[in-house]
Amino acid sequence: MKVRTRFAPSPTGNLHIGGLRSALYPYALAKRNGGDFILRIEDTDKKREVLGSKEKIGENLKLFGISWDEYYVQSERLDIYKKAAEKLIKEGHAFYCDCKARNAKTEGFTKILRDPCRDKNKTSGAIKLKVPENETVSYHDLVLDKNISWDTNDVQDATLLKSDGYPTYHLAAMTDDLEMKITHVLRGHDWMPSTPIHLLVYKYLGGQMPELGHLTDILDPEGGKLSKRKGSTSVEGLIAEGYLPGAILNFIMLLGWAPKDNKELFTLEEFVKAFDVKGLQKSNPVFNREKLDWFNGQYIRQFSDDELKIKLQIQNSKFAELSEDKQLAITGLLKDRIVKLTDINNFAKFFFETPEIDKNLFGESYKEHLKMAINVIENIKDFDLENLNNKLMDAIKTNNFKTGDFFMTLRIAITGQKFTPPINDSIIILGREETLKRLKSSL
Ligand code: GLU
Repeated sequence: MKVRTRFAPSPTGNLHIGGLRSALYPYALAKRNGGDFILRIEDTDKKREVLGSKEKIGENLKLFGISWDEYYVQSERLDIYKKAAEKLIKEGHAFYCDCKARNAKTEGFTKILRDPCRDKNKTSGAIKLKVPENETVSYHDLVLDKNISWDTNDVQDATLLKSDGYPTYHLAAMTDDLEMKITHVLRGHDWMPSTPIHLLVYKYLGGQMPELGHLTDILDPEGGKLSKRKGSTSVEGLIAEGYLPGAILNFIMLLGWAPKDNKELFTLEEFVKAFDVKGLQKSNPVFNREKLDWFNGQYIRQFSDDELKIKLQIQNSKFAELSEDKQLAITGLLKDRIVKLTDINNFAKFFFETPEIDKNLFGESYKEHLKMAINVIENIKDFDLENLNNKLMDAIKTNNFKTGDFFMTLRIAITGQKFTPPINDSIIILGREETLKRLKSSL
């Protein structure tokens, strides 16, 4: 049987890393086995839909190299769900209910499992599932690798088709899984409690139901489930922060899945080859930003200087206006030192903007330091890194300066900051004239 998996996002806003992971794992499962990966937009809750997000989901997936073999939009398939619901009515597994929707919170009742309409033989309204009494439903979870079962006496007569003709997730997703011949479902853990409803719907609709697996929750380092409100966890937000798609994807691969060896760096292709559902972890992973930073650094260093230069040009237009030589030299200096592409904006700002100097940062002997540096730099014959290093070191010795203090003065006068790329390298890139200008203005 051909493996067929799906990613079934609801278009309710930005794609978050949890969503990307819910796409990545089924994608890998399908591709690992020469199967099909399906993108199915679940847009039947029109109240929650955010305009434009449907299109963006696809664009975002492509950015990560995740492509799909088939594409469906549920709101274009309403007649299929209506037919499925009517079949359940006809076969005695569902019933009509034309009561006004009741709100447990405002009316002060706890969830009622058995709907008063279930035995009234009504002929119009919403369609609800007629949950059988005294049965057990169970399945084997693909991720948790165990059997899970429910007594149907604890399962609610859930709404399948609303009176406006739109299906709920319980009907639409199960109908589609069967109709699209999905073989494996990997979905968010929050769907676990409604799984008994889904098992009944699959069974009554008939056909081969997929294997189900529930993925772990991604946890916030500060505790609780990763919240969309704290920091950016949307794919677009992370990219805007300067993270590379390859690094984000690699980070997510290992957020709930582990390879047999300890390999950490995976391209998408390598991941597909290595992917095995048995490696899906049972305990919840924590979103660890230092780890994401580490991955990003690794991916930055994989670029050639030329490739990285182009990425940095996109980040900073002033950098892009410098001469090619300067851009390359700065790129070389930054490559081992930046974590995110956006770091160029702070870390290398002094290359394209005259810094404001806070004189309070200087130590006691800063004037002597500056005078000496000006004198040395004015008198170097061949202005290159080696000569600069040597002449400054000689002068430091002759003047009995403390090396660290001297270079801190130099650093502050030239960059306005205490943490910068190596200062002598930076001076060579800035050039003699600009360097002297800055040193003199600090005096
Ligand atoms: N539309 C559901 C969601 O976004 C899909 C869950 C599933 O994969 O079945 O949570």
